[in-house]
Amino acid sequence: MAYGGDAGGEAVAGRGHNAPCSNRDFDFFYRGLEAEQLLIQKCGGCGTLRSLPTPFCAECRSFEWEAVPVSGGGRVHSYVIHHYPPLPGFETPHLIAVIDLEEGVRLVAAMDGTAPDALQVGAPVTAEFLRRGDVAAYRFRLS
Ligand code: ZN
Repeated sequence: MAYGGDAGGEAVAGRGHNAPCSNRDFDFFYRGLEAEQLLIQKCGGCGTLRSLPTPFCAECRSFEWEAVPVSGGGRVHSYVIHHYPPLPGFETPHLIAVIDLEEGVRLVAAMDGTAPDALQVGAPVTAEFLRRGDVAAYRFRLS
């Protein structure tokens, strides 16, 4: 898969929910998934970690940043059970969770493969990597 440029997603049109959003702020994240790594931004000015990706640091306003890997471990902060509408590539009901990563930032993630009644706020989880069609993806599972 080709990444780069500042296209607003034209390259992935028609691929539905699984398509990565290709732009300067998010491309590093999807390159990380191709290498089976979760990457987040670390500010080059003050060292603050941030997720979701943004062009500059909300703490110090620096535009300098680097992508750093995180462990993939965390705990469920919150979750929803998605029933409708159907999501291409997912069976419903479908778990979507906000994860408190061990590093102190949050990440929204699919948790398909986990039974909805098995999940609780605060449950320990681990990231795993998979392919959804030709797209590198991640999800969390109970650890
Ligand atoms: Zn900063």
